[in-house]
Amino acid sequence: MQQQHFDVIIIGGGLAGLTSAIHLSQRNIRVLLIEKNSYPKHKVCGEYVSNEVLPYLNFLGFNPFEFGAKKISKFELTTHNNKKIEAELPLGGFGMSRYEMDFQLYQLAIRQGVLVTQDSVVDVTFEDDQFHIQTKSNQRFTSKIAVGAFGKRSSLDVKFQRRFIAKKSPYLGVKIHVSGNFPEDKVALHNFKGGYCGVSKVENNHINLCYITNYDAFKRYKDIETFQEEVLFKNSALKNMFQKSNPEFVKPLTISQISFETKNPIENHMIMCGDSAGMIHPLCGNGMGMAIRSAQLASELIIDYLQKKIKTRVELERKYSKNWNKAFSFRLKVGRTIAYLFRQDWLAPKLLVTLRKLPFLVPLIITMTHGKPIEI
Ligand SMILES: Cc1cc2nc3c(=O)[nH]c(=O)nc-3n(C[C@H](O)[C@H](O)[C@H](O)COP(=O)(O)OP(=O)(O)OC[C@H]3O[C@@H](n4cnc5c(N)ncnc54)[C@H](O)[C@@H]3O)c2cc1C
Repeated sequence: MQQQHFDVIIIGGGLAGLTSAIHLSQRNIRVLLIEKNSYPKHKVCGEYVSNEVLPYLNFLGFNPFEFGAKKISKFELTTHNNKKIEAELPLGGFGMSRYEMDFQLYQLAIRQGVLVTQDSVVDVTFEDDQFHIQTKSNQRFTSKIAVGAFGKRSSLDVKFQRRFIAKKSPYLGVKIHVSGNFPEDKVALHNFKGGYCGVSKVENNHINLCYITNYDAFKRYKDIETFQEEVLFKNSALKNMFQKSNPEFVKPLTISQISFETKNPIENHMIMCGDSAGMIHPLCGNGMGMAIRSAQLASELIIDYLQKKIKTRVELERKYSKNWNKAFSFRLKVGRTIAYLFRQDWLAPKLLVTLRKLPFLVPLIITMTHGKPIEI
């Protein structure tokens, strides 16, 4: 069978895969993007995107505000026992559903000349200095470069026996869109025992309610509704939000086995981007920013490699690992620490009292889990 050959094959068409595909195709690089699902599609995500990636998105030719994204500049935090703190976001962000954002980036990628195929990659091997990629429907492709942008958890992680996949992860995520009252310019994080729920608006005036909890907190209740009533509603802001709004989904979307373990930015010579390279705790609201930023780091180096400014694959891999760690290691550590502290039910209210007394700490902590606006 004749195998189609590409300069770059990107596995996974979420934010990391799509932005990288657009960037590379702008430099006339022959890119194939393989995504297992069709567009548009809802994903479990808080859908608050940090402004640090706005200049880069604009550089790629994407302006989220053309599609109704909401500008967000205010932040509110409540504890499970109803203590509240408010702050201005140092950099701010925007609210846009993944349904719309991924779809619009996909359309841009197509217009840019990216070849997109809907299929699931089942195997990737590296031989004779090229990648051999096989899909579920038995398509076979080869490429000089493979980018792994297949998200937080994929069958490919099992295939590559990545270390994090062997460890059980206790986190699950639930998301629903509702209609009701909530300020357009605010993102709220409402804590409850065993988790927290993000609230912010997206493009069509729907409100995103997205929470993450651990399985131990959840398993004592027979279903999502009971869990929400018994646990989330102890926080009166959440009770208010859920009870005074109308669901826009037939039922909430859920995902499980969310892992925040360390991963490698290079795996079997593949350049890993987005959650495939490492996932920051959603409490920090910056996973999408990191996915897009890592796509930029990868794309710039891949261009240099294909233009022979980077001479060897070893050098490419070394530079990407170094740049990735420089950009993200610190914020991942801070994210883990913050999530750990807020998980301690006895400690969270005390932390909040401290933050209320020392309000300058809030923007400082947020800044530590975010990058500076991307320079183009
Ligand atoms: C509960 C929760 C709330 C969150 N809230 C926020 C927030 O408010 N702000 C924020 O910035 N971040 C948030 N995040 C994090 C954010 O969702 C992720 O960091 C972001 O989606 C990562 O993008 P990605 O492109 O790496 O992965 P994804 O968007 O997951 O894309 C990966 C793609 O790969 C595809 N794929 C997987 N396997 C294969 C295969 N074998 N073959 C082909 N395709 C494949 C999948 O279908 C998917 O489309 C949240 C995460 C969770 C869990």
